[in-house]
Amino acid sequence: MGELGLRGRRRKTLLLALVALAGLLPPVAFLVISWFQTVQDANNRLQRYASTAVDRADEIFGTAEFTLAGMAQSLEIHCNNTTYQALRRTAFESIYFQEATLISNGAVICSSRTGKAVQPITYRENTVVPDHGLHISPPVTLARENNIVSIIIHYRATANAMFGLHLNPVLLGEPMRKYATEDQVTLILQRSDGATLSQFGLNADLPQTRIGGDRVILKSKRYPIQAVAIGSPTWLLHNWRRNALIFGSLGLLTSALLFVLLLFVARRQFSAAASVQDALADGQFQVYYQPMIDTVNGACIGAESLLRWHHPQLGVLLPDTFIAAAEESGFIVDLTKWLMRRIVTDMAALLKENPQLHISLNLSPQHFEHPRLLADIKAVFGPHIAPGQITFEVTEHQLIMNEDNKALEVLKNIRAMGTRIAIDDFGSGYSSLKYLSRFPFDYLKIDKAFIDAIGTESVTAGLVDTIVRMANQLKLKTVAEGVETPAQLAYLRELKVDYVQGWLFSKALPADQFHAFFAANKSYMLGAASSRS
Ligand code: C2E
Ligand code: CA
Ligand code: CA
Repeated sequence: MGELGLRGRRRKTLLLALVALAGLLPPVAFLVISWFQTVQDANNRLQRYASTAVDRADEIFGTAEFTLAGMAQSLEIHCNNTTYQALRRTAFESIYFQEATLISNGAVICSSRTGKAVQPITYRENTVVPDHGLHISPPVTLARENNIVSIIIHYRATANAMFGLHLNPVLLGEPMRKYATEDQVTLILQRSDGATLSQFGLNADLPQTRIGGDRVILKSKRYPIQAVAIGSPTWLLHNWRRNALIFGSLGLLTSALLFVLLLFVARRQFSAAASVQDALADGQFQVYYQPMIDTVNGACIGAESLLRWHHPQLGVLLPDTFIAAAEESGFIVDLTKWLMRRIVTDMAALLKENPQLHISLNLSPQHFEHPRLLADIKAVFGPHIAPGQITFEVTEHQLIMNEDNKALEVLKNIRAMGTRIAIDDFGSGYSSLKYLSRFPFDYLKIDKAFIDAIGTESVTAGLVDTIVRMANQLKLKTVAEGVETPAQLAYLRELKVDYVQGWLFSKALPADQFHAFFAANKSYMLGAASSRS
């Protein structure tokens, strides 16, 4: 019994844990999801910015290359008037290029600004200009031009001459300025070797932000340059908070729904199945025995065991209120085993003394799903009660529900042990005679509804003889249930129904009262029963 109580408590704990989990899990899951969503968003955004920056740079360097190639092809390597005018036009017509130059043997020999004045070029690095394509130098400050900062783009014309264009780095990065201020993004345009060409933003100095996925590098396909976009942790957190608000409310909603659902389930479990278990552990169940009478001599030849729950607050509860819960939770299998033990305690001695007496008990559909039934019968009844004195009652409904023939198998095995089988509530279902003839029944119990109809005008009344004829054909003994009036009894006797059970004789009785009833009615005569009512 203690074991049963413990199992009940464990189930309660498990259910409570589930309820708590249902409350916690969705919000946490949604927070995590929203974090990854935010990082993903941030990454997409950085990709977009970097790509805009690269496109813009490609366009400007493309223009520069086209212009420089044109000059290299058409101009002489002399600072004559044609060359000078061409350089001036190039610088004048473009908003990007501050100056155009012609360089020969390491010195500027012609400039759009200064004309012929020869100046040595001062580069921070060793400029190796490729035979084809551009060389881009990082911004230099040219002292001679009021400290103007320029990116210098070179293009080779001959073995020792090249044309140059000075590009304003601010204009190169112009579209990036907007993102940098509005979205707190740092954008850096670099040469492939990492030398900075242009940059905007707050974190430009940070080598790397600590938050993962928050940095994107995109290389140009046309020039040896790349854009680096770095997001700000502040922006990321801000956006996460916004996402978390949306996802979080979804999570809360889900958990609220789950919570209510589980609570509902849990309460049902607590109030029904679990309390049945607790009640059994607490000794609140009792077995009552309803006498069964032989119609020929009126003797009590058996009893149906029926469960009663003595609820401390609600009084005696009938099986309708708790059997379903015990069946749903599968606890009915334990309950039946307990019932069998009680039957042994209450009846073993009486049955031994009276071999004509038998006890029946009701099975539920769950017994056919549990292979335990046979073992339980052997273990509990085996040493104490002769199998022939036990009858199991099964309803047609149960058999129809159990389509895969497990029931048939189980019933055959039970019967092979010598135990009897009764079909209970016969006529209340839809089963055909042909279907039922496959099962190894000994008794057929006619449903109370048919007995109630006896003596009335209802169509059902006439069905009792049909049922009895069918039972006779199948060689089944008949039992009429719920017999309440002498008129019903008389009619059933006429039809030669074998046994009767009902309030006309006795309600279900506690064990000691049944013992007394049996002692008085071992050979009770029918006439007396009729006159008694
Ligand atoms: P059942 O197997 O058809 O049991 C017969 C029911 O009819 C019993 O109700 C009994 O008290 C009632 N009854 C007997 N004679 C009369 C009568 O003359 N008039 C009226 N009005 N009723 C009568 P009970 O004990 O309330 O049981 C109801 C059902 O609960 C049973 O129907 C059975 O299906 C189920 N049940 C009871 N005990 C057990 C059990 O130990 N295991 C299982 N699996 N089911 C059980
Ligand atoms: Ca029954
Ligand atoms: Ca019945």
